[in-house]
Amino acid sequence: MNVQKLSQKEITDLLQGKDDKWLFEEASKIKGNIFGKDVYIRGVVEFSNFCKEDCFYCGLRRSNGCLVRYRLAPLDIMRCAEVADSLKIKTLVLQSGEDYFYSKEQIAGLIQRVKSRYDIVVTLSIGERRNDELKFWFDVGAERYLLKVETFDEKLYEQLRPGKRLSDRIGKVMYLKELGYETGSGIIVGLPGQTVDSISRDIIKLSELNLEMIACGPFIPHPETPLGGYPPGDPLTTIRVVAILRILNPSANIPSTSALSSFGEEWRRAGLKAGANVVMPSLTPEKVKDLYSIYPGKNSGYDEIFDAVEGIKRLIREAGFIPSESKGYSKRRLDEKCS
Ligand code: SAH
Ligand code: SF4
Repeated sequence: MNVQKLSQKEITDLLQGKDDKWLFEEASKIKGNIFGKDVYIRGVVEFSNFCKEDCFYCGLRRSNGCLVRYRLAPLDIMRCAEVADSLKIKTLVLQSGEDYFYSKEQIAGLIQRVKSRYDIVVTLSIGERRNDELKFWFDVGAERYLLKVETFDEKLYEQLRPGKRLSDRIGKVMYLKELGYETGSGIIVGLPGQTVDSISRDIIKLSELNLEMIACGPFIPHPETPLGGYPPGDPLTTIRVVAILRILNPSANIPSTSALSSFGEEWRRAGLKAGANVVMPSLTPEKVKDLYSIYPGKNSGYDEIFDAVEGIKRLIREAGFIPSESKGYSKRRLDEKCS
């Protein structure tokens, strides 16, 4: 197998389990060469579950009238940053639904407060905001942005994200890169209507974007959505996606996602062994964490944040790796600067 350029046919075969032994060994070798045994930890603060969008797969969609909505006050968010700092977590991911309640200035204020008080990198994951906002937040100190394309299949994308256009989403991802963010994107694996062929095309398209971060988790049906009755994505296919992405994007930061771990913590370990080098525990306060129900069971695995983070560190060690206390800047970026 040619590691540099897997053909679409080879990717499709690998996705179907044609050569798991080779795939996982190769991905793990590549990861080891670049990251050693380090696994980066990113703390996620889910600060609002309000969303103006209506994605068919997501429990936060605006049409879900059963969900109690919340917004964290800036003080609560700062407490999460304090928790991150005390746990030596050096990246705070501020995530939410697409919630325009938080203005450009308010988000900027948050970024500045976190950065002025702690030695922490801020990642934003708050949807498709306006270009002037994205630029402003970068200028005030946000360094990373996560915006998953979800699927590059145009028809499927437009069915599952009503009123939205795939080209706009990809355009935003490219704009984030242009601004200088360490940019992350990814897909959901196992969406209804997705095929092995479309996943292999997604892998190629994601890899062509030269992303600093690539996040792919399995689809988990949420009963209060139009896709509630469909089967979940397959965790084994998901870790094959992770491994293929590692091979095609050696120095990208790739998480073993929380969605994967909802099939059992052994799947998070499997993700790490298949080439993932990042974990993203939730630091969302206990009083609201269950309401951030993108999919059922999200954030249900712990009662206490400290226990959750300790549990994740234990899991990293059990998988044979070391929880890193570094900021985990993109090695892809460093490689490009040095070349
Ligand atoms: N609103 C922002 C960020 C929060 S959603 C955005 O959409 O970009 C974060 C991620 O949750 C989405 O990118 C999507 O990939 C994932 N997600 C949503 N519903 C899901 C589901 N049912 N199963 C698995 N992942 C899901
Ligand atoms: Fe909103 Fe993001 Fe969920 Fe879509 S995936 S409904 S944009 S929170």
